[in-house]
Amino acid sequence: MLNAIDLLKTIPDPEIPVINIVELGMVRDVKMIADSEVEIVITPTYSACPAMFTIEQDIINIFHKHGIIAKVTTQIAPVWTTDWITDEAREKLHAYGIAPPEKGANKTHLEVPKKCPRCGSENTKQISRFGSTLCKASYQCNDCLEPFDYFKCH
Ligand SMILES: [Zn+2]
Repeated sequence: MLNAIDLLKTIPDPEIPVINIVELGMVRDVKMIADSEVEIVITPTYSACPAMFTIEQDIINIFHKHGIIAKVTTQIAPVWTTDWITDEAREKLHAYGIAPPEKGANKTHLEVPKKCPRCGSENTKQISRFGSTLCKASYQCNDCLEPFDYFKCH
């Protein structure tokens, strides 16, 4: 018996390869339509993210390898929030050098990283609202002077 969730966990986020789309909270539902047909419901992290097309193709391809036709449905409501990122994925982001968003921060609009992912200092400053991708902002630590990305809350 094929575990659809396990298959989906092998698909990394195209922008942050250390975390997969399940950990990111993007996969909302998995419905077996028939023995060889499955529907995957995903919510885009950012509607403007060009990576969404890549993810959709990755899902179709990975199920195809197992002889299963995957139908990808995009669900835009309720909107994805950084609160859906699992705790394990937050740890991975931190280890990767990206300051993870705080849980519930999207509600308070607290658009600041809690601490520098390299030295743990809380003394940081924003360099740019947009980092290497739309989903991230660039910050610099005032103590170790290392620049880092912050996964923006929304
Ligand atoms: Zn630092």
